[in-house]
Amino acid sequence: MKTQVLPVTAQSLAMAGRIIREGGLVGMPTETVYGLGGNALDAQAALRIFEAKGRPADNPLIVHVASVDEIPPLVRTVPQAAKKLMEAFWPGPMTLILPKADCIPGTVSAGLDTVGIRLPQSEAARAMIRAAGVPIAAPSGNRSGRPSPTTAQHMLEDMDGRIPLILDGGPCAVGVESSVIDATGEVPVILRPGGVTPEMVEHVLGRVSVDEHVMSPLREGEIVRSPGMKYRHYAPQAKTVIYEGGTDRVIAAICARYDAATAAGERVAILGFDGHDFGARTRISLGHAGSAQDAASRLFAALRELDERGETLALCEAVDTAGIGLAVMNRMGRAAAFDIEHV
Ligand code: AMP
Ligand code: MG
Repeated sequence: MKTQVLPVTAQSLAMAGRIIREGGLVGMPTETVYGLGGNALDAQAALRIFEAKGRPADNPLIVHVASVDEIPPLVRTVPQAAKKLMEAFWPGPMTLILPKADCIPGTVSAGLDTVGIRLPQSEAARAMIRAAGVPIAAPSGNRSGRPSPTTAQHMLEDMDGRIPLILDGGPCAVGVESSVIDATGEVPVILRPGGVTPEMVEHVLGRVSVDEHVMSPLREGEIVRSPGMKYRHYAPQAKTVIYEGGTDRVIAAICARYDAATAAGERVAILGFDGHDFGARTRISLGHAGSAQDAASRLFAALRELDERGETLALCEAVDTAGIGLAVMNRMGRAAAFDIEHV
């Protein structure tokens, strides 16, 4: 199959809508990352998504809608706290886990009796959903285990020959996947941090809880509330280590490790911020120092670049976990298997 990459136009949207309605898959630009979209009400389309990604069948898909009016038939109830979150943060980078209605196939929810729903901010994403006329199930558009794609080109690298069409909406503004919030109980629980931060949720609801696995690895055999958390994610080929502490100490420790590893024959790259002095050592930029949003929008591209360059060791500067920094550290932490040096 030849994979076309087309800019978002009335014509390409109509083509995308037709492909989705016929049970096929389309690369969908969103403000978070590119998604691999299929008809969320079609079990066969969902199976094709799992197959194209190489995704384990027990990892559920997020269902995307273009307006809140489309939600009632998809869920059994919408708790009060969920309504408040929808009003505050939709359209936007937030997925709410709600009790699912029967029309959502078990393949989409991976056998759970809940479903993740999102109303994206991206105009292109919503236009594609409207063109399809059905809700769109879309996990991140990477092959399973690879960093999520934040450009159409990255999605093509992973999906070339597997799907007919990717709509190119340019680079993703947020750059990390949506916040996943379990809204089935009284106190919403953030299962995966993203662009809607714990601080933002707390501001609206007065309280918030963050799942303990956001910043820690799983213990052997442990059961998780968000199945995606148990899989190795975002991991580059390079062994990845995070350095956390005062900026000067972090820079010094990274430089020392870089030099020792290089002398030992390793290919090393630093994931570090602009303006931090790493001398002539290889650095992949995470953007402006102190900007967690810069780091969010650059991290996945940086992880892909490590692999392209054939690096064997990556040394990363940590970011503060305030705001979207928690989402950055969750993804960076998982890429590094939570190998964090405190200096
Ligand atoms: P991705 O589609 O690649 O962004 O991954 C979707 C994430 O949302 C995974 O980590 C899933 O575990 C999580 N997720 C989706 N649906 C549910 C659900 N019904 N319950 C808990 N987590 C979910
Ligand atoms: Mg993913």
